[in-house]
Amino acid sequence: MTLDHKWSPGVQNYVKHANEYLARRNEYIQKVVKKWKFDTIAVHGLYSVQDAIEDYQGAIIEPVFMCTSQAYRDSDEMEAALAYLIPTWCYSRIANPSTYYFEWTLALLEGYGFDGFTSCCSTSSGMAAIMTAIQPFLIHGLTHHPQNIVATAQCYGGTFQHFNIRLHQERGIECRWVLDPTNIEEWASKIDKHTCLLYGELPSNPGLGFFDIKLVADLAHSHGVPLIVDSTVATPALLRPICHGADVVVQSATKSLTAGGFGTCGAVISRGDIVTQMGTDQMRKDFALYIKYLPNRDYGPNLHPMQAIMTLNDMRTIRSKMDLLSRNTMCVANFLKEHSKIEQVNYLGLPDHPLFSLASKYMWLVDSEFDDMYKRPINRYGHLLSFCVKGGVEKTRKTFDKLQRIWRATDLGRIKSVATIPAISTHQQQGDAGRKLANIPQNLIRLCVGAEHPEDIISDLDQALS
Ligand SMILES: *Cc1c(COP(=O)(O)O)cnc(C)c1O
Repeated sequence: MTLDHKWSPGVQNYVKHANEYLARRNEYIQKVVKKWKFDTIAVHGLYSVQDAIEDYQGAIIEPVFMCTSQAYRDSDEMEAALAYLIPTWCYSRIANPSTYYFEWTLALLEGYGFDGFTSCCSTSSGMAAIMTAIQPFLIHGLTHHPQNIVATAQCYGGTFQHFNIRLHQERGIECRWVLDPTNIEEWASKIDKHTCLLYGELPSNPGLGFFDIKLVADLAHSHGVPLIVDSTVATPALLRPICHGADVVVQSATKSLTAGGFGTCGAVISRGDIVTQMGTDQMRKDFALYIKYLPNRDYGPNLHPMQAIMTLNDMRTIRSKMDLLSRNTMCVANFLKEHSKIEQVNYLGLPDHPLFSLASKYMWLVDSEFDDMYKRPINRYGHLLSFCVKGGVEKTRKTFDKLQRIWRATDLGRIKSVATIPAISTHQQQGDAGRKLANIPQNLIRLCVGAEHPEDIISDLDQALS
């Protein structure tokens, strides 16, 4: 922080020490952490042996700071902290040491392979992440002309409702849906000078929509607006949109980032110097930190420290987990593809999927070239697939009801296989027209394959189908 007006010598002294600390931290990130492989970052993040011994009684795991606020040595430190002149935990709605370690790990994982700066702001859920990522761009402009956003129609049901009802119907901020996001002309045709941002989900849940991130990011930037990507289904182990030009990534860490399924958690990750004509220099320079310290302080969608540490602990093995789950899913997809009672299987890893080659351009198992087992770049497509059962809704529900090992739940990303019928669950409330936009037929089953042996999942599907 730089001091722009006269602060007392006591305050200035705290700022001087804080700046020295930040310089040391930055050097540690640049010279040590940024040189690590993905797995090492996932395991350690910024929590070092030195941190543990100096500050945390040597605790080998990042401690859970179940605490609302921080005490200060004196009034100078309090003043410096509350003016955000020094790093502070001041109050848990704003910052907390446990969420700090989670945020840094995820910022570094999403920024892996990107040589710029990334930062992260954690939130209480994926929806809270989406809300806080888009709000700062919907500032009432000088013209008072209604604003709009342009977004992929194939997206999570909650996102659809958020954009369609909360933004459009309730606040007059139009969401212009892109029906075929692989068509760059369609994106371009929906943008005008009142467009605030482009938003895309990929691979989309449950439709597995995909688009060319780089093309869409370039288009966004040529109009001076940011591209925000929901990359929940891929996780940074398989895809890092910031490396391809996205400005902001949102994650529902509730899903594939964690396996345990203890609770909801979200995150907004941004690159330095995002593209937008809205807001302040501070907002453009470090967007995630900006929303953490300012808008989110005022909205209050913060993450609980207990959940932060549980999510962090789960994330440490994300690379090998996404590899295993992707391989299991490929086995299940191949089985379903050959089954006589299946009308259609959608999985990005099947070569006859229309988006296979586009997905193959972007979805790689991170660091597989350094992996003993592979020694070369390997495509992996995640653990979400969907299929349509022949015979319509009735046969679909019958098959679904007969599942024994696979759980019937509106969940995804679990270590356990979970299936749902989106038309009656995650995508129920958006109605027929909304489902048609998002391309979700009534007889679609979404299956998220877990870490069981794939033969056991296949035999469960086989008995249910027969
Ligand atoms: C579940 C989900 C969300 C919302 O996340 P929550 O943590 O449930 O609030 C957003 N995007 C995608 C792709 C999701 O699957």
